[in-house]
Amino acid sequence: MSAPLLQIRELKVYYHVEAGAVKAVDNVSLSLDAGVKMGLVGESGSGKSTMALAMMRMIKLPGRIESGQMILDGTDLVGLTDEEMRQTRLRKLAMIPQGAMNSLNPVMRIDRQLLDGPLDHGVIMSKEERKARIGELLEMVDLAPKVGKMYPHELSGGMKQRVTVAQSISMEPDLIIADEPTSALDVVIQRQVMATINRLLEEFGLSLILIGHDMGLMAQSVDRLAVMYAGRMMEIGETREMFRKPLHPYTQLLIESLPVLENKGKFHGIPGITPSLLNPPSGCVFHTRCPKAWDLCREKTPQFVEVQSGRWVACHLHTA
Ligand code: ATP
Ligand code: SF4
Repeated sequence: MSAPLLQIRELKVYYHVEAGAVKAVDNVSLSLDAGVKMGLVGESGSGKSTMALAMMRMIKLPGRIESGQMILDGTDLVGLTDEEMRQTRLRKLAMIPQGAMNSLNPVMRIDRQLLDGPLDHGVIMSKEERKARIGELLEMVDLAPKVGKMYPHELSGGMKQRVTVAQSISMEPDLIIADEPTSALDVVIQRQVMATINRLLEEFGLSLILIGHDMGLMAQSVDRLAVMYAGRMMEIGETREMFRKPLHPYTQLLIESLPVLENKGKFHGIPGITPSLLNPPSGCVFHTRCPKAWDLCREKTPQFVEVQSGRWVACHLHTA
């Protein structure tokens, strides 16, 4: 069997604030095969964006990667110099940011922004080649050629997000990380942009890590699901299996909280509040909200173990 495209091993990312270390990602491991789409879900503050930024090596102070490995296609990203990582971004992995508004340059035309990445990576193109590549990239994301001559303010939210998708694939990376790529858009546009992303992934055989809260969108979009809570990984498995039979009580609650027709689309939050990551609960971090917690859960941290092939869970109910 070939090695996975991405292997994250025991990754720790902390933010060092005055009161101490915020353990935003604490001992997280996951692996992703080539061509697979994985969703990363969890409530606000669970560490999803920190994971994405760590993979891009874009964590800023007071944040720091403390330890762990992120092996992408045989190379540990943690050990790369800043220059090596700059060369790796876009070529090997690229990010579609949360909300295109902040990532596009308001005073630069779209055609220039589409070529920014390749030119920055030293790709040499003649005038004709540039023109052709811009047209190709716009077509890939279902935008008309005339969009190249426009400025971001002339585009709708959905069109802007399509431009960021085109930017992300401009160097044909192996892995795309998308942090809530459609959350700022209305539902219909959301689904359309997601459909474009999916088509491109399939066309080029790319892998995806899709970050979000929307379990409904995840159910439709990804092959595998990774559930985070309070900086820790709780469960990973095939999306269909996770919905059919969630093993971790937190995954169960996330799925039960999905609005369904019978409850008139009402969203039930998960009772209780997320813990402080400065001083996380002892034992299982979820014990303060878990309806199934018992003494052991307060005392001992459950290991993250493979309970069936490709199914990982950190819960004493399944590993004690
Ligand atoms: P959301 O869904 O709201 O984007 P998230 O799951 O992506 O949340 P993160 O943004 O990764 O979570 O945050 C994880 C933890 O790290 C939170 O407790 C957050 O307050 C903390 N954190 C994030 N950025 C910083 C920072 N620059 N300085 C200090 N703490 C931070
Ligand atoms: Fe709940 Fe205990 Fe499992 Fe944690 S280890 S999820 S507290 S049952």
